[in-house]
Formats: sequence, C-alpha cells, structure tokens
Amino acid sequence: MTGTKSPLEPVHIVGAGLAGSEAAWQVANSGIRVVLHEMRPHRMTEAHRTDGLAELMCSNSFRSDDAANNAVGLLHAEMRRLGSLIMRAADANQVPAGGALAVDRDGFSSAVTAALQGHPLIEIERGEIDCLPPADWHNVIIATGPLTSATLADSIRALTDENALAFFDAIAPIVHRDSIDMSRAWFQSRYDKMGPGGNGADYINCPLNKDQYDVFVDALLAGEKTDFKDWEINTPYFDGCLPIEVMAERGRETLRHGPMKPVGLTNPHYPAVKAYAIVQLRQDNKLGTLYNMVGFQTKLKHGAQQRIFRTIPGLEKAEFARLGGLHRNTFLNSPKLLDAQLRLRAEPRLRFAGQMTGCEGYVESASIGLIAGLYAAAEARSMRLPPPPPTTALGSLLGHITGGHIETIDAGPPSFQPMNINFGLFPPLLSPPTKKPDGTRLRGNEKTVARKQAISARALSDLERWMADSLPIAAAA
Ligand SMILES: Cc1cc2nc3c(=O)[nH]c(=O)nc-3n(C[C@H](O)[C@H](O)[C@H](O)COP(=O)(O)OP(=O)(O)OC[C@H]3O[C@@H](n4cnc5c(N)ncnc54)[C@H](O)[C@@H]3O)c2cc1C
Repeated sequence: MTGTKSPLEPVHIVGAGLAGSEAAWQVANSGIRVVLHEMRPHRMTEAHRTDGLAELMCSNSFRSDDAANNAVGLLHAEMRRLGSLIMRAADANQVPAGGALAVDRDGFSSAVTAALQGHPLIEIERGEIDCLPPADWHNVIIATGPLTSATLADSIRALTDENALAFFDAIAPIVHRDSIDMSRAWFQSRYDKMGPGGNGADYINCPLNKDQYDVFVDALLAGEKTDFKDWEINTPYFDGCLPIEVMAERGRETLRHGPMKPVGLTNPHYPAVKAYAIVQLRQDNKLGTLYNMVGFQTKLKHGAQQRIFRTIPGLEKAEFARLGGLHRNTFLNSPKLLDAQLRLRAEPRLRFAGQMTGCEGYVESASIGLIAGLYAAAEARSMRLPPPPPTTALGSLLGHITGGHIETIDAGPPSFQPMNINFGLFPPLLSPPTKKPDGTRLRGNEKTVARKQAISARALSDLERWMADSLPIAAAA
C-alpha cells in the first residue's frame, strides 16, 4: 500500500513518542497520509532530552521477550505479527539483557525517526499543538503522553470535565484474586452495604491483630522509598491520596482510622474475635481476576512493597499484577470518556493513544498507538475495524482501557489507574490444563506455567484469525 499518494484526508497525529510514532507507521502503511506533529525540540518536556522520535525517557528495557510465559513478551509477539515499527526498531537495536528485550536507546530512536522521515505518506511537523486541534482536522490521534504540554492538557480538560483528566497517578497495588488465601480472608462490604451495583459482599477483607498491625506499621516506616523527581514535587498529589507510609508517619493509629479501619466487618472464620485493623481489596476488573488494595497508594520501592504486603494475613502468597506508585502523569478516565474505538465520546474526531489512555509502559503505549492507527486508517476509508479479540494481549489491554475496569462503588475520585499488561487482564481459560503432554498430573507451579502458556497460545491463534478476517477488509480501498 505504501508509495502511492492517497487522495483521502490525512490523519493528524499529535505527539511522536512511542504511541504516536507507531500509530503514524500503521496509518501510512494502510495507504493513508499522515501529518505527525511533535513539539520537540522547540518545546521540551521535563524528561525528554533529544529531538528524536520515540525517545525512551528512562530505562532502555522493553521487559521480558518471552512470548510463552510473560504477558509483555506476548504483546511483543503480537505487535511483531502486526508489523510494528517500534518492535522492528527494538529488534534491530537490541543489546544483551538476558531474557529481556533491551535496546540501544539512540540507535532505537534514530531507526524510528529515519523510518518515519523516509515514508512517502508521512509529513513531520515540528511545533506544539497548544490547544484543541483545528475543527477541519477530522481524524486526529492525540498521543502526547504522560508529560503532555500544559496548554493542550487544559484544553482537553475543558472538553471533558474537571475530574476526567488526572495529572498524577496514585496507584494502589493489584493482586491476582487466585493468590489470596481465603481461609484467612473473607468477602464482605462494610456494614454489608449493597451500594449501586454491589451485592453486600464486594470486598475481600484481610484482618490484622494488634501485634501484626504494629509490625506492619514499623515495616512501613522503615521501608525503602523512591524519591519524587524535582519537577514532580509541586504536583498537587496530596488531597485525599496520601501514600500509606506518609499516613503511618503522621501517627501509629492513622491507618486504623483511614484505609485500615476495622469497623462494620465480621470475620466469619473467627466471629468472636475483633480485628485490630483490616485491609480491604476491591474488585478491579469485570472478569473478577484482579483486586486492588484500597487506599494503598505508596512510594515504597517495589521490593519493599512485596515483602511488607505479604506480611498481611491472607496475602502471604499474593501475586501482584501491579505494584503501587505515585508519579506525575497525564491520563484520561478512559472507561468513561472513550468509546471502544478509543474516540472521545464528546468529540469523536479526537482519538487517543498511548499512556494518556491509561496504559503504562513503553510497549503498552506503542501497542495502543498501533491499534489507534489501524482504527484511524479504517475510519479514513469509512470502514470500521472490529476490535482485536479480548483473548489477545492487545485486546485485553484495550478492554481494560475502554471498559474492563469497574468503577469504584464508593464515593471518591475515579478509581481507574494506569496498568501494565498482565495475565490477570485476560479472560480465564474455559478448561485450564491439568495434565502434562505425557499424561501425568501437573503439580504446584507447573499448573501456573501451563496456564500462562495456554493463554499465550490461545492469544496468538486468535490474533491470527482476527488479522485474517478483519485487516484485509479494513484496508480495502
Ligand atoms: C519520567 C518518566 C519515566 C518513565 N520511564 C519509563 C520506563 O523506564 N519504562 C517504561 O516502560 N515506561 C516509562 N515511563 C512511562 C512512559 O512515559 C511511557 O511508557 C511511554 O513513553 C509513553 O508513550 P507515549 O507515546 O504515550 O508518550 P511519550 O513517549 O512521552 O510521547 C509523547 C510525545 O508527545 C510530545 N508532546 C507532548 N505535548 C505535545 C503537544 N502539545 N504538541 C506536540 N507534541 C507534544 C512529547 O514531546 C513526546 O514526544 C516513564 C514515564 C515518565 C514520565
């Protein structure tokens, strides 16, 4: 499809980071013209250092490249099958990193820049888009990332509403439901309240006695924390979203009166024993495979989080789909604001991609850029591309962004927070493997490994079917 001048209207893409660069490649390779707008070097973000497209802001790692056993490795594999430029440039600039895919960051960014500059259907315009894109841009992808310039962010906020665009994330850890020990924990909502959409038993509760609580508070106070970057210090985090270790610093009892309050709950395992403190976990996705630790946003280092949170009764063997954090970020309350094609419901000519949609990480951002590019290219031809199956890594991540996450049943700020790809986002297998190829029974960890491998195999075969059925239709002139 490349090489011919398309008469169709161009797609305007704002931001040439991981998502915008991938989106531009996908649109142009579908035969549609692209105007790619990037503000650097005229205006820099607080973290970018170069004028290169797809600059990696921090680490040079794309994480695990193991497609059979790791969800991000599976996402790599799916993106390669879909002709991803980001994966092609990463593979060509790989540096040794064991099972991970790490890249030479300058070589990687140069390869992406050269490919986009050399594409006959792509025009690169340097300059900040400092307000909503002009009304005569009918097919726009906004991929301006976690450090979106302030004026554009303000315009987007004015179009949505005050609470729909967040300027920092306050991430509470998320636990795989099947790793919680329900012989110690139990389901119950505080005072058995039903709430809208609840059933009176919506939370998983983990009880602590006084000794356990004291040990826990001491560990929080002593645990290693990450520092805020200079330019993050003035971000207004602290209204109603204090990190738990900061709450603990304010007084030993503060947590017992906040997220760990033990009232309105009775432990069915020991009904006569009153817990001294209780940690609550709330269902995070519609599938019910993930639960978030309510109010547990934290700046503790990841190793400290795993060690300390596994001292909580019921979470001794917790497997974390996401660990907690607080960062400067810019992202939409996507499940509410975006439709299934990543378009802003309030103004459908604007489609979003990358970290702004509420995914997290280089690879995830690029993958959402990839699908946004395919959607925009189909739309330019007045076609509609069906979404990738929810059983694929791309489809499950997209599902989380556009609807898989369930809103908090409590009053308070929106509960949607950025997410890396993980196996908890995939629909469970209808019949999980129980036996090895030789017919003997799978035991312990072998079951987890076999389950992940079966999810990965299902994903790749479903992706190929979707590509065969849907992509030629969407690309048909
Ligand atoms: C400080 C920091 C460190 C990070 N480290 C990591 C890490 O180590 N590993 C990881 O996987 N993820 C990391 N992330 C997350 C990372 O941002 C995303 O993974 C990824 O870069 C997001 O891709 P994106 O395309 O959405 O945004 P970006 O890659 O940031 O691209 C957005 C682009 O839009 C441009 N832009 C912004 N506003 C405008 C405007 N108004 N007009 C025109 N252009 C504009 C920017 O200059 C930029 O080039 C980090 C994030 C931050 C903030």
